[in-house]
Amino acid sequence: MFRSLKFLLIWAILPDMTTSLEFKHHSTKDLERFLRDISKKYPSITHLYSIGTSVTGINLWVLAIGKYPKEHTVGIPDVKYIGNIHGDEVVGREILLHLIQHLVVMYGNDATITRLINNTRIHIMPSMNPDGYEITQREKRDCKFSNGRYNKEKIDLNRNFPDVFEHNTSPIQPETKAVMDWILNENFVLSISLHGGAVVASYPYDNKQKATQSPSYSKCPDDDVFVYLAKNYSYSHASMFSGDECVMTPNFPDGITNGANWYHLAGGMQDFNYILGQCFELTVELSCCKNPPATYLKEFWDENQESLINFLKLVHLGIKGQVLDLNGAPIANATIEVEGRKNIIPFRTNKWGEYYRLLLPGTYTLNVTVPGFGSNTTELQVFNNVENFSASVFNFHFNVNVTDEPLFKNGIQLQYGTASGLQQDTMLLISIVISSALIY
Ligand SMILES: [Zn+2]
Repeated sequence: MFRSLKFLLIWAILPDMTTSLEFKHHSTKDLERFLRDISKKYPSITHLYSIGTSVTGINLWVLAIGKYPKEHTVGIPDVKYIGNIHGDEVVGREILLHLIQHLVVMYGNDATITRLINNTRIHIMPSMNPDGYEITQREKRDCKFSNGRYNKEKIDLNRNFPDVFEHNTSPIQPETKAVMDWILNENFVLSISLHGGAVVASYPYDNKQKATQSPSYSKCPDDDVFVYLAKNYSYSHASMFSGDECVMTPNFPDGITNGANWYHLAGGMQDFNYILGQCFELTVELSCCKNPPATYLKEFWDENQESLINFLKLVHLGIKGQVLDLNGAPIANATIEVEGRKNIIPFRTNKWGEYYRLLLPGTYTLNVTVPGFGSNTTELQVFNNVENFSASVFNFHFNVNVTDEPLFKNGIQLQYGTASGLQQDTMLLISIVISSALIY
């Protein structure tokens, strides 16, 4: 009797975590408790999962938020935010917790957030480097540097990814491997990695061909899209757009920079996302001080809240759709190429035959190729559909039957599935049937 009364009393005086998240530095335990509480309290729109563990065995937690949070849904794009890849850069870790709280509390109460969550699957990983964070917590607070930047093996995780511009000899760490697999197995379209030590939105490439030490612009084929994305962040931010926030960093016009034009680096996560993951990732630096006292955290959340929410909406830029066979079965590994944009590795459809391609409004020539079965070239008019929370939909039907037998062409096995269960009502706004373009 007394025991249950005590329990009731404790329950009654505990703060409601989901409405009173404190502005403080959350320990690994606090962070895990918060994520578990949120996933219990909002089970229909959240899914808590771990993509692996750090060197010391701490889970790399991700909270997915969406109408269908547990798995990818055809037509609904996936977007991710990652904090704390550098363990001593702690602001991103904290404001991502506040973003999580804001999104779940506002669902059903705010029209924009509700539509965003209904039409987007948002994955939030507050800490990619929990071991580094733990090291930082044991050291004296420092604005510029802590050994906690690195993981437990003293490796910089943002120099640890495979790099197409140069051979990366840095031994791949468990945190990096987990994120690589995550990127390659999910269907991320858009992403931000949150850092500290400057205030700027940086975009690919971070590396360049024949790299020299002197900074120079390393332009990627989607430079226009990246500049738009970066400016969207900096101009939605309270002050980032001014470009001269910190004493120790250069003046960044519009508060943005091409990565290599600031300083080039090999093995960065941003280039890996874009080149190998078909995912447009920015590196956003949030604070001049990497590890500020907790009293500043509310200010950082207030400064970045609008940017973080507006940026999520941009996953609905451009075009999306499916490549299907004559029976409506999805064709995987079809290439999707936009004329004039030579991606180092062409974008390909996923196992649902889906593609997502961020593009600014305009007229484009799209080349869709089913390896071994030819291609089709189509001119498309792309509008800005961000406010409708859906990119423009263009489906492509090839008059081939992928269900007869597996297709082995050019060394690529075309995986296929059935059309059952596809949410075609959300997809078939525009359907381009290419039956006359058969090439066997
Ligand atoms: Zn950093």
